[in-house]
Order: sequence, then C-alpha cells, then structure tokens
Amino acid sequence: MSSTATVTQNGSAKTMKSQIVVKQDVPIPTPGPNDLLVKLSASSLCMSDMAAYAGHLGERAPVCLGHEPVGIVVEAGAGVVGFAKGDRVGFMPFKGMCEDCEECLSGQSRFCEKKVGGMTELHGGFSEYAIAAPLSTVKIPEGLTDEEAAPLLCAGVTAYNALKVVAKEQPGGTPLNIIGVGGVGHLAVAYAKAFGYRVTAFDIAEDKLELAKKYGATKGVNTLTLKDEDIVKTQTTIVISGAAPAYALAVKTTKNHGRIIAVGVPHAPLTFNVLDLILREVSIVPICQGSKQDLDESLKMAAEYGIKPTIQIKKIGQLYEGFQSMAKGEVTGRLVYRFD
Ligand SMILES: [Zn+2]
Ligand SMILES: [Zn+2]
Repeated sequence: MSSTATVTQNGSAKTMKSQIVVKQDVPIPTPGPNDLLVKLSASSLCMSDMAAYAGHLGERAPVCLGHEPVGIVVEAGAGVVGFAKGDRVGFMPFKGMCEDCEECLSGQSRFCEKKVGGMTELHGGFSEYAIAAPLSTVKIPEGLTDEEAAPLLCAGVTAYNALKVVAKEQPGGTPLNIIGVGGVGHLAVAYAKAFGYRVTAFDIAEDKLELAKKYGATKGVNTLTLKDEDIVKTQTTIVISGAAPAYALAVKTTKNHGRIIAVGVPHAPLTFNVLDLILREVSIVPICQGSKQDLDESLKMAAEYGIKPTIQIKKIGQLYEGFQSMAKGEVTGRLVYRFD
C-alpha cells in the first residue's frame, strides 16, 4: 500500500521542520470489530491539510494527511451495523468515540473527548486504504461522482452546517453576506442559494467573485476596492476567508444584534475591540464542520439540488504540486486526487 503526502515533523515545540514524503509504503490497516476498512478512490485537498503541513495544527508524529475521502467498503467489522462490503462511502476522520458522553449521545460525536484521528494518522485520506468509524461515515447518494462527493466531506458539510445555523435565526429570502469564496466559500454560496438567501459575496480575487456568481450570488464585491459607505449590512455574515481582515470587515457588514458565523481560521490570534461588538450586540458564532447527520443531509441536498463543487481532478502522484499551488492561492475550487 502506498501512502502519499506523509508529513514528518522534527524538532522542539518552538522550531519544527515539515516535509512531504511521497509514496511511503506502510501496512494496510486492520479494522477492529466496529471499524470499516475503505479502499479509497478519490480524496480532495483542504486548507486544513495545508495548515497541518505548515505546522499550524501543532507538532505531529509522521502522518498521512487528507480528510475528504471517498471509497468502497472492502471489510466491515463483525460489530458494524448499517454498512456492508461494497458500500460507496465517504467519512470524516474521527474514530474511537465513546458513544456514551453528552456529545456522542446528542449526535455531536466529533467533540467527544475520547475521539482519535484527524490530522494525526498514518492512514489519512491520501492513503490507498483507511479505517473509518461508522459514526463518522455516510453512504454517497446517487447523483454525485466520487470526485464530486469528496470535497463535500469537509468543505461541503461545513458550508451546509453554517447555513443551518444561519437559518435558525434568519429566514430564507433575506440578504446574506459571505466573505471568502474559496473551496468552502463557493459551496456556501451554493447552499445559501438552495436555502433561499440572496447572497452578496466578498473576495479580493475577481475570478473567485465570478465563481460566486456562477453558484448563485446576486452580487460580488471586491474588498480591495470596497468603500465603507458602499457596505450593505445583513443580519448574518459568514466569514470563510482565513484572512484576519475578513473578520474586521464582517463587523462592518453585520447589522446590530446580528451574528458573524466564523468558519475561516486565521493563523494568528485575532485582535478585536470587544466594545465594537458590545455596543451593537453583534455576536460571533463558530462552526466546526458538522455532525454525521449534517453530512448526510448536505450530501443528499447536493445530489437533489445539483450542487457540484468546482473541481480539478488530478492523479495522487501530483499531490505535492497541489500543496504548492494551494499555498500560492492559485487553486479555484477544489483539487481532487484519484488513486487509479
Ligand atoms: Zn463520547
Ligand atoms: Zn477540511
């Protein structure tokens, strides 16, 4: 079995080196009684992989990145219910959940303190075989190819969950500001349209604004030339950009008593004048991916509404070039890697 994009990091907590080792042979993992062994067919590159590669997620043992994988179940443990050999599935990376804590019992098992996985494994989404927990796994609906489905496993479910949170307090048909139209952002625009919102998209790149319009944004605003007096405030602003100025902009684009939905992660702590929020009662609501139910809903909605991510299909051997392109901000939509 080949495992690509293995990141090894050495050094102290203060200094760290990262490198990609392409094609390192590692043993095929053995599934436990409650695990699925999945042979992967497609897997896409997420900004979180970039953050891990750059060392922003902390020091790690050697790992294989990738957390938007789609494939076929080749083995289901004896205790597995709901999945069988041959199922086409996608999965989120967490496993080992206790299934007995408040988070697990409320369907939010990605917050379980017992969970393992994520950006810490030798068998991540860029390996040929991976172990999946049924609690993190869903079947891929008809109407989505493996390559179309892969970006929905993280980017898509995150965008969908953000819209669900918006919809709890803001009715469809109303205007919504979305800042950042990258891999997650263009899907947020698509889901927002499906939820009935009238989206104004903000970005610094004209091609990203064109992408937003293609996915249903009624207006695209280039923030490089935006004047404060031209801003139209909305009840909610979703920030998907990881650039710190995006959050400063969101304070301006959100109405009094409104909410800023935080999805994008700046690599340095944000500095806020809390008074700016207090005086207008604007709150910040963070979104962490989504539950298994959110994932299932987001895939079904994508299949039924024809929400297809913008993708560039590559071979897994081209992964390193993808990291470089992504780091330079040259990628529109998502890079999806095939294993055959
Ligand atoms: Zn738990
Ligand atoms: Zn991700």
